[in-house]
Amino acid sequence: MKTPDHNIVSFIKDLQKDKAKNVIVIPHINPDGDAIGSSMALYHFFSKTNPTNVIAPSSFPEFLKWMPNSDDVFNYKEEKEECNVLISKADLIVIADHNAPNRSGEAEEAIINSNAKILMIDHHPEPSYPRDYSISSIEVSSTAELVFNFISTINPASIDTDMAAAMYVGIMTDTGNFMHNVHPDTFKIVSELTSKGINRDGIYNKVFNNYSVDRMRLLGFALGERMDILEDLGVAIMHLEKTTLEQFNYQIGDTEGFVNMPLAIKGISASILVMERNEEIKMSFRSKGNVAINIIAKKYFKGGGHKNAAGGTSNEESVFETVVKLKEILKKESQLLLEQ
Ligand code: 5GP
Ligand code: MN
Repeated sequence: MKTPDHNIVSFIKDLQKDKAKNVIVIPHINPDGDAIGSSMALYHFFSKTNPTNVIAPSSFPEFLKWMPNSDDVFNYKEEKEECNVLISKADLIVIADHNAPNRSGEAEEAIINSNAKILMIDHHPEPSYPRDYSISSIEVSSTAELVFNFISTINPASIDTDMAAAMYVGIMTDTGNFMHNVHPDTFKIVSELTSKGINRDGIYNKVFNNYSVDRMRLLGFALGERMDILEDLGVAIMHLEKTTLEQFNYQIGDTEGFVNMPLAIKGISASILVMERNEEIKMSFRSKGNVAINIIAKKYFKGGGHKNAAGGTSNEESVFETVVKLKEILKKESQLLLEQ
């Protein structure tokens, strides 16, 4: 189990003794369940002793907005001035669920220029965030697991139902409801979280069973009309352009999980979603087994992530040109894809 070292524990304990010290928690841009779950757990933990705020670099999906105090999360894109003041006054900034400055979005500059101590808590490979303290391991399911170990080392008695639910959301979403990247420790932690009185079925329903009709029809359209199968390579590519997203009244988070679906097809070991988002062409990569799809995200699309789940962005003019380029790249990298 990855637990924080002595330096971190004594630094945090000292900080908590001085109630005037301000804490800021930053999840990654386009935050997912682990980013928001980890950040909210840290928010509940630090709020007990210090003024604490969560600043998300951009907005987060509707299916996470039921979480207690998630209304209080700042959106850096929309509240820059207020956020800059908060960041400049911070004594501690916790970087949650990311490890590279550009993943803090437009908040990067304010964070790097602040005098606060930076603690990074993250589970992605190749950390590059300049920080004072770091809790980083790729051998856990999620950042939420590291947050659990962090909080239980410092003050296990402080874990209440809201904190437990937030950490559960992080673990549940990053493992695809306990389907991948799960370790024996994951279940030990979940067992502890469950004992804090969380409603597991209720959380599952709020996060996964909350599609709008438009979202469900968009999924149908994506699978029916926008999915190419490259049979020889065992790859599925889905693409969604702005006009299609508008047609289905796209809301942030609507395509979450879509990229996993084609992995259920026999013989498909990698799946890629290419879509227009916030004036960018965003790509999501997923794979099974030994296929290290993050290599492609990193080498060709300014991205990265885990072996079986990565992301990136395209420099091409359109979604369609991205798909053409992507197909060429996949052919070139066929050896990587056919690795079993
Ligand atoms: P998703 O496809 O859900 O957006 O992201 C999957 C995984 O890849 C996540 O673990 C996320 O942290 C990582 N990821 C997504 N987009 C990027 C990116 O642009 N750069 C890097 N380095 N990682 C990314
Ligand atoms: Mn994560």
